[in-house]
Amino acid sequence: MSLHWISGTIVKKHVWSDGLFTISVQCPGVLPFEPGQFLQVGVPLREKHLHRPYSVASPHGDLLEFFIVRVEGGELTPRLWGMEIGDAIDVSEKATGGFTLSHVPDADCIWLLATGTGLAPYIAMLRDAVIWNRFSKIVLAHGVRYATDLGYQEELAQFANQYPDRFQFVPVVSRQSVEGSISGRITTAIESGALESKVGIAIQATNSAVMMCGNPQMLDDVEHQLHSRGMTKHKPKTPGNYVVERYW
Ligand SMILES: Cc1cc2nc3c(=O)[nH]c(=O)nc-3n(C[C@H](O)[C@H](O)[C@H](O)COP(=O)(O)OP(=O)(O)OC[C@H]3O[C@@H](n4cnc5c(N)ncnc54)[C@H](O)[C@@H]3O)c2cc1C
Repeated sequence: MSLHWISGTIVKKHVWSDGLFTISVQCPGVLPFEPGQFLQVGVPLREKHLHRPYSVASPHGDLLEFFIVRVEGGELTPRLWGMEIGDAIDVSEKATGGFTLSHVPDADCIWLLATGTGLAPYIAMLRDAVIWNRFSKIVLAHGVRYATDLGYQEELAQFANQYPDRFQFVPVVSRQSVEGSISGRITTAIESGALESKVGIAIQATNSAVMMCGNPQMLDDVEHQLHSRGMTKHKPKTPGNYVVERYW
């Protein structure tokens, strides 16, 4: 399927740490999409158009955010990392993907589990009204190696201040001990019960919907853990409890 490109301009670049960054792209003309969907982002080269899918880290608008990590040896991300304000960048006109709240079953609590830049779709959802209207409790667990790999900390703290009884953000840091965070991985924090005891809510089929996004190992391991609790993947014809977005 051929893609229709909108020529955008980078108007802001926020560097969270070496190789971890957010670009804000002015690209009016991108068709309306749901928070959680992804666009193709890329650059024309002489021999081909080089592009990859990226979750949009903001709701639909003329200015779109992308939260990106430079992958060593990767084809596109070292180029994106080198781009600056004013540079042109191509964005696909039409977003795709089913990792959205309209594909999530109703529940008391929604668990948003992310590793690395898998945080991006949740930032878009939290900035939009739907998640706040549908779920009385929202827990976001962000798994990273080091504290410097955490992005959007201030914004997440603002949500927690604004909704102290409804929103909890739990950083899970695997290679460093950081005050206020759980040490280890999301999977070990579920296995040990540390995540649920920190937020005071159990992940179970009767009360929870789970979204998970990021690296494939975390997704496979958490799926396994949820299965052992009698939870299943949610599909339109076979309602279940969780949905998954695989980055690679
Ligand atoms: C639906 C979807 C949404 C995505 N959204 C985002 C996003 O919001 N932010 C983001 O940074 N990436 C996102 N990705 C990943 C992105 O599309 C690229 O795969 C990634 O940026 C690497 O591109 P590259 O050309 O530099 O590396 P490539 O040359 O394509 O590949 C290098 C290899 O690196 C691996 N890889 C890909 N991503 C990572 C990673 N994050 N960490 C370690 N290894 C990796 C893969 O195995 C890949 O084969 C998303 C992927 C999908 C499928």
